[in-house]
Amino acid sequence: MHGSLNVAVIGGGYAGMAAAVTLAGRGARATVFDAGAVLGGRARRVSARGRELDNGQHLLVGAYAELRRLMREVGTPADAVLRLPLELRYASGFALRALWWPAPLGLLGGLLGARGVPFAERLGAVRFMRALRRAQFRVVPDCPVDALLARHAQDGRIGHFLWRPLCLAALNTPTHLASAQVFANVLRDSLAGGEGASDLLLPRVDLSHLFPEPAAQFVRERGGEIRAPHRVRELTPALAVDGEPFSRVILAVGPHQLAPFASLVGPLPAFTYQPIVTCYLQYPRTVRLAFPMLGFADTLVQWAFDCGALLGAEGRLACVISAQGSHQQMAHDELAIRCHGEISRALGGLPEPEWSQVIVEKRATITCAHGLQRCAPTTATPGLFLAGDHTDPEYPPTLEAAVRSGVRAAQLALETR
Ligand SMILES: Cc1cc2nc3c(=O)[nH]c(=O)nc-3n(C[C@H](O)[C@H](O)[C@H](O)COP(=O)(O)OP(=O)(O)OC[C@H]3O[C@@H](n4cnc5c(N)ncnc54)[C@H](O)[C@@H]3O)c2cc1C
Repeated sequence: MHGSLNVAVIGGGYAGMAAAVTLAGRGARATVFDAGAVLGGRARRVSARGRELDNGQHLLVGAYAELRRLMREVGTPADAVLRLPLELRYASGFALRALWWPAPLGLLGGLLGARGVPFAERLGAVRFMRALRRAQFRVVPDCPVDALLARHAQDGRIGHFLWRPLCLAALNTPTHLASAQVFANVLRDSLAGGEGASDLLLPRVDLSHLFPEPAAQFVRERGGEIRAPHRVRELTPALAVDGEPFSRVILAVGPHQLAPFASLVGPLPAFTYQPIVTCYLQYPRTVRLAFPMLGFADTLVQWAFDCGALLGAEGRLACVISAQGSHQQMAHDELAIRCHGEISRALGGLPEPEWSQVIVEKRATITCAHGLQRCAPTTATPGLFLAGDHTDPEYPPTLEAAVRSGVRAAQLALETR
């Protein structure tokens, strides 16, 4: 137990809350500061024109072991996510469904049985996975995902419908830039992972409710404190946070929010960023998708989620556009009209939406480029540790990277004398 340790956590996103839960669970006193009124950072509930929405549709997978463990620890109910065996369905016909066979046979069977791709390419995809496994999922030297796919003859329809969309969804980075090593890490832990690792976990509650808010309750019950909204203005080398002394500090702000603390952290990599757009379209209650998550190809919209099936918001679709592209020049109204047009065409005609809401997160994640340098969890200041999705050494910038980094920073804070 670490009863005398008084730790400040700056940032109440998934990383900061994972750090605070780890500290509180080990008997340390955690005080979380977050600049926003609603916990969750880049994965939070927002209020837009009187409607409660998420700042962006999120998808979890079975391989998110650390997030799933923490959700259980803070008491998030199991039905807060809809768990489905991996199934990728496109409006245009491609479909892949993992079979109920022991891993990895379920996925291999799914690849072989995929619809909308010639058999030779399906067989090629199985060979690609086998080659990655033989190389222990190491890509040395790291290269763009496009180069890896070309090397293994995976750039036909299978690349178009499977590998490239998976890369965009997991790394939020276009395949000509994305790190093949990080992509291979994702494939290793999800598609080639153990039982249930490739399952889709679709949130059935808002993203603040899913983990940060029950985590806050867990921390309070163990003597900790949550101060939100409270933007930290000053952190000193002696670990005073806005004038209040702490024995350790975990800095769990987003990568673009590190600048005010740079002199204490030390040299930072020069990150660039990728956007994510979520366009909510509200149709009459009878409109539903054939599957809670439907893929789209050759359109701006990459995935549409059925908020009726997931959250009980009947008739509402969340359309997702990951990573950079020409859509960054489009106005919100233009984006909503375009998303509606594409979905309507693919689904054979839909009525005009009753309302739409576009949420653009310009710096949704860092660009997960090949050769990417990450921040180390230790800093130039003794007792100051870094957490955040930009600090995990091997995962793409995701919820799982965020919570893994938070747990690791908390462990360092607890172990450092
Ligand atoms: C639209 C969108 C869709 C996404 N989709 C997925 C997905 O499907 N699956 C997935 O796994 N990941 C997804 N991600 C990525 C995921 O949301 C992030 O990787 C994760 O939320 C990052 O968490 P974090 O705690 O590292 O950082 P953040 O969430 O950015 O948390 C940092 C916190 O620090 C606070 N802060 C900053 N400065 C200060 C200060 N001076 N004082 C006090 N507080 C401060 C901020 O308010 C914020 O709450 C998506 C991201 C976005 C934006």
